[in-house]
Amino acid sequence: MAHDFNSRIVIKVIPLFDSRSGAALPRPPAAYVAPTGTVLDTRGRSLRDLRISVTDRCNFRCVYCMPKDVFDSDYQFLPHTDLLTFEEITRVARIAKDHGVEKIRLTGGEPLLRKSLERLIEMLAKLDLDLTLTTNGSALAQKARSLYDAGLNRVTVSLDSLDDATFRAMNDVDYPVQKVLDAIATAAAVGFKPIKVNAVVKRGVNDHDIVNMARHFKGSGQVLRFIEFMDVGASNGWRMDDVIPSAEVIARIHAELPLQPIDPNYSGEVAERWRYADGSGEIGVISSVTQAFCSTCTRARLSTEGKLYTCLFATTGHDLRGLLRTGARDADIAAAMAGIWAQRADRYSEVRTAQTAGMKKIEMSYIGG
Ligand code: SAM
Ligand code: SF4
Ligand code: SF4
Repeated sequence: MAHDFNSRIVIKVIPLFDSRSGAALPRPPAAYVAPTGTVLDTRGRSLRDLRISVTDRCNFRCVYCMPKDVFDSDYQFLPHTDLLTFEEITRVARIAKDHGVEKIRLTGGEPLLRKSLERLIEMLAKLDLDLTLTTNGSALAQKARSLYDAGLNRVTVSLDSLDDATFRAMNDVDYPVQKVLDAIATAAAVGFKPIKVNAVVKRGVNDHDIVNMARHFKGSGQVLRFIEFMDVGASNGWRMDDVIPSAEVIARIHAELPLQPIDPNYSGEVAERWRYADGSGEIGVISSVTQAFCSTCTRARLSTEGKLYTCLFATTGHDLRGLLRTGARDADIAAAMAGIWAQRADRYSEVRTAQTAGMKKIEMSYIGG
């Protein structure tokens, strides 16, 4: 879809609820036409990607995401009635497309735990957007064929180590690495290509395996990406000392497997790309901590219960479910989304400090990674 990114659309924000009392305000006149097309935020960034969390639940307890002592048997996950239905999700996605969204990523929690996800994928596939999913791989071998047939375009698998003991300790549910490797192979055989493999690197936990992982995926057609450990949420005990800067990851790999930098696939790509000098593929690094990319961030997140967040590190979201369930018209929802985006000023990673890291932020499993 072509966009004219130079033209600024002026968004008129029409409040639908009184901000103090929460009472519904009179609706816009019927003749009101929602602003559609590219919406720009206060820093001139357009809305291009929508990440949708389809469940806040997960069968893993990765130490950097859902630590067991917080996400224990007493933890209150959302009741089913709070979750957006597939129809509601598709409606938001369709309206988001009118505002310039070109790419949708289904995530969570573990998205493959959401029952009948293939039905949602079929519905979203009709919107003709780039449709992707991030998974821990535990149900992927079983579902790869049906996901592919439903119209999913690409899949990203999270895998933090090839060393079985390390992987089991990081997912903290004793899940074996071989099963994830088998799932990647099944997904590739079904037709998902290339599969991206995401590894979060935590100093002293899995950094001993960086070069080994690079060697394993080199020449496989899969694209391995190393992610800096981030201070998402408020429960993963993040410390700057635990972050291995991407520059160090690249240096360690380059020392054994020579690398060359390559251009991004598109402007605003999150991962920085490097190719093997011998032509046997590429890797990526995502440096959210040491090289913030907020200035080109075009991502919004729709939480499991229908709140729109304009930053991964946000502390509050904007309720769309209320609108969806009280008879709002598409035009009302479009206006609300445009208004939210037009007011966006987020740049958390550019201003991160030890103090902000300790702030109460929304958990990643809820907002969608
Ligand atoms: N459960 C799915 C999975 O693990 O792929 C999807 C949701 S998960 C929250 C999405 C991505 O966020 C995963 O690749 C995961 O490794 C990453 N992630 C979670 N916590 C993180 C953290 N503290 N720092 C960096 N990446 C993190
Ligand atoms: Fe679950 Fe993914 Fe978080 Fe791991 S990173 S706990 S698999 S949501
Ligand atoms: Fe985007 Fe927020 Fe991450 Fe910056 S910190 S890149 S604004 S999600």
